[in-house]
Amino acid sequence: MDNIDLEKLTTLTPMMAQYVKIKKEHKDYLLFYRMGDFYELFLDDAIKASQALDITLTKRGKVEGMDIPMCGVPFHAYESYLAKLIRQGYKVAICEQTEDPKEAKKRGAKSVVRREVIRLVTAGTLTEEPLLEAKRNNFLMSVSKIGRTLGVAWLDISTGEFFTQETTLTDDDEEENILSSIIMRLLPVELIIADGYLHTPEIFSVIKNYKEQLSVWPDERFNSENACKHLQDVYKVNNLDAFGNFSRAEISAAGVLIDYVETSQKGKIPHLLHPQKIIDEQIVEIDAATRRSLELIDSISGDKSSSLLKSIDRTVTGPGGRLLASRISNPLRDITAINKRLDMVEFFVSKAELRDEIRTLLKSSVDIGRAVSRLSVARGGPRDMANIKNTLGMIPHLRSLIHFNSNDKTKVVSEIPAVLQQVLSDLGEHSPLVAKLGDALSENDLPLLSRDGGFIRAGYSAQLDEIRNLKDNSHRAVVELQTKYISQTGIANLKIKFNNVIGYFIEVPAKFAHMLMSDTSFIFRQSVLSASRFTTVELTELEDKIRGADDKALAMELQLYDELLSSIKASSDDIIKCGNAMAELDVAVALADLAVEYNYCRPVVDNSLCFEIKDGRHPVVEQSLRKENSGPFVGNDCHMDDKSGNLWLLTGPNMAGKSTYLRQNAIIAIMAQMGSYVPCQSARIGIINKIFSRVGASDDLAKGRSTFMVEMVETAGILNRADERSFVILDEIGRGTATFDGLSIAWAVVEYLHEINRCRTLFATHYHELTSLNGKLSRLSLHCMKIKEFNDEVIFLHEVMNGAADRSYGIHVAKLAGLPKTLIKRADQVLHNLENQNKGLSPKDIANDLPLFACIRERVEEKVSSPALDELNQINPDDLSPREALEKLYELKKLL
Ligand code: ATP
Repeated sequence: MDNIDLEKLTTLTPMMAQYVKIKKEHKDYLLFYRMGDFYELFLDDAIKASQALDITLTKRGKVEGMDIPMCGVPFHAYESYLAKLIRQGYKVAICEQTEDPKEAKKRGAKSVVRREVIRLVTAGTLTEEPLLEAKRNNFLMSVSKIGRTLGVAWLDISTGEFFTQETTLTDDDEEENILSSIIMRLLPVELIIADGYLHTPEIFSVIKNYKEQLSVWPDERFNSENACKHLQDVYKVNNLDAFGNFSRAEISAAGVLIDYVETSQKGKIPHLLHPQKIIDEQIVEIDAATRRSLELIDSISGDKSSSLLKSIDRTVTGPGGRLLASRISNPLRDITAINKRLDMVEFFVSKAELRDEIRTLLKSSVDIGRAVSRLSVARGGPRDMANIKNTLGMIPHLRSLIHFNSNDKTKVVSEIPAVLQQVLSDLGEHSPLVAKLGDALSENDLPLLSRDGGFIRAGYSAQLDEIRNLKDNSHRAVVELQTKYISQTGIANLKIKFNNVIGYFIEVPAKFAHMLMSDTSFIFRQSVLSASRFTTVELTELEDKIRGADDKALAMELQLYDELLSSIKASSDDIIKCGNAMAELDVAVALADLAVEYNYCRPVVDNSLCFEIKDGRHPVVEQSLRKENSGPFVGNDCHMDDKSGNLWLLTGPNMAGKSTYLRQNAIIAIMAQMGSYVPCQSARIGIINKIFSRVGASDDLAKGRSTFMVEMVETAGILNRADERSFVILDEIGRGTATFDGLSIAWAVVEYLHEINRCRTLFATHYHELTSLNGKLSRLSLHCMKIKEFNDEVIFLHEVMNGAADRSYGIHVAKLAGLPKTLIKRADQVLHNLENQNKGLSPKDIANDLPLFACIRERVEEKVSSPALDELNQINPDDLSPREALEKLYELKKLL
């Protein structure tokens, strides 16, 4: 909330009046107001920015008797400050001087240089490399609801990727769950939402927990007809049918994104690929809770290092990292497409040397998609062009590495799978562009921005060479003029120098100044500490020539730069396609590397309803056990199908590995369907359409839901949506309520899953009573975690075997966790008596049989028995003299 009311500021200097006018038009943004070499911030913006950036808050002048707070960031290093502000959730408006100060002066000495906001910077509209995470897409997302259709569009302007998706809501659907699962899948950095939609209670409950930037736009901006026109204008087409069959809701959402980007970039639209429609049925449905509990991209604790992505990521490029993350988030349902990806991985699995060579090459490539995007919004420069040239220049080498990867380097490899051949063809043919950029750009020290000049190679343009010669000759003429003046005046240390304020000048030590003063050909300019400065008509003429040559050379270079830019823009789609193909190679090589390192296998994915895993492992737990040297991970099988049984009831002690086993099977399914090898000896998976996981409990106080309520809401979501093709893991349903209530719910859930959902299910429970369903439900089978009891201790073997566990050993785990000994003893007594309930004891009898506070008494007794107390008990104080009493006291103290 701002403290200073802009409306009340009236007596302002012309400059502050200009500032306030622009600031009023950009109230939601921190205004970076360009003054010379700084972006200055004033008033409330200055207070916020100085705190956020930890920079000094100063003041500049007064308004209404109050000091005007001010702080500033240097123009040449503003990106790092911008990054900090964006990361802290601020949006920034960049306001530049848009006229030459000389022009402003012509309007009067006090006139203010014209300034305009040239760009609005928000988290979702970034293109600068230092502001982006290399391995993370920077999605800007918008949501639109028309009737019962939810349209979502998401766009990464740093790469040009653009997608839409629609979901038709049914009466059973909880709209907020669908929205949050989309958000969890795409992890957008900024979300645009219509004002009216945001204020529907269900949606508000999701959005208020959204941690990234939120932009709320008026409902009118979501009009689908305007949105359609917008899209048609940008893509220069008469209708959008060629790109896909979009619903009105998708068009509305996509149009809003274009509108937003246009507004934020002040009319400059970056290079965008065509919007691509994602069909719900193409990808495995995974809701928000499941994504969280399986820790696919982020771990529950927020520590990315134990996520699946982090554990399996061996990519070496930013685009490769982004593609891998997207594959984990969007596993496929199409068997052919999955097998194509697996073919690529398989090709590389047996070729260690080739993998190394490709990785070495890819490591020196750059993110050409992002470079193209920067160039398209005039934020790139010669260095980006050279990077594009170098990366595209690697393609022939990359291609030949794969073609001739056998020992016999003259023999083209015959077994290249069709999909890899397609990728090699997508890499494209760029030699004309590479040659052009190579001819045009200097070899070294290219500037970041074209306006700095000096990036065109000598010999590329005869015209530029001529101007540069002129420039060099003029510089030589300055030296000659200096020699001439030295001999003319006899002043040996006369020098011709240059500075930005007065340009070229003749400088002599002050003691010789009188000599030039008396010579009419020298015109006095100024005196400095120990020298005097002069000029001559000849020097002024020469300076004009030099300045003219500099300006001309830069203008010429900029013209050549524009030509190069046009060539790059004309090839943008091909360059982006090439970048995507390189990312595919990176991912395939990375997954092959991982498969070899951890001995993964190629899964068989088919149309059956099987789930057959031999010796499966949890990829993240396995790696962390290996890192910590904590022994091997124990592999476990899982065999389910619709005939022999597809509902596994898993019992076993706490800490025995049930949750790990449940999760590992869901993760194996996701890895298989994203096209990766999987951590097991063999896997056959009948294609899965939806994966649900309810593992572990947490409350959602923000939504006003207790732990048990969250558990029930998530279970309801599963029971409503899972079908025969789905895969469900459920851990400890019904634990958060009274025993009989919980058991009854768990019982009914098992029956419902068996009879109605009929999906493949792993159901872990501590309700041993449920095992009596065995034999009653034909597809249910019993499994348990193996343990060994030894010397009153329990050893967890982490092995899954057939049958049911007889008990949970919860008290044993409590002991391991360090609960007080007396408490453990007491719990054992209570357990013993409760177990005897079957023998006719009522709960009241049990309570009577177990005197209250027994553990407290024991604890006191435990404490009471100490050597010091024993000694004290022996003493009769009346028998002791004062001196003896004192000595005894010292003795007792030693015993403590
Ligand atoms: P609880 O019922 O208390 O939730 P649990 O049976 O679900 O326990 P997990 O949390 O899955 O047990 O596993 C406990 C620990 O055992 C894990 O953190 C892991 O370190 C180890 N573990 C689990 N499975 C295996 C395995 N197959 N091989 C080796 N170690 C394992």
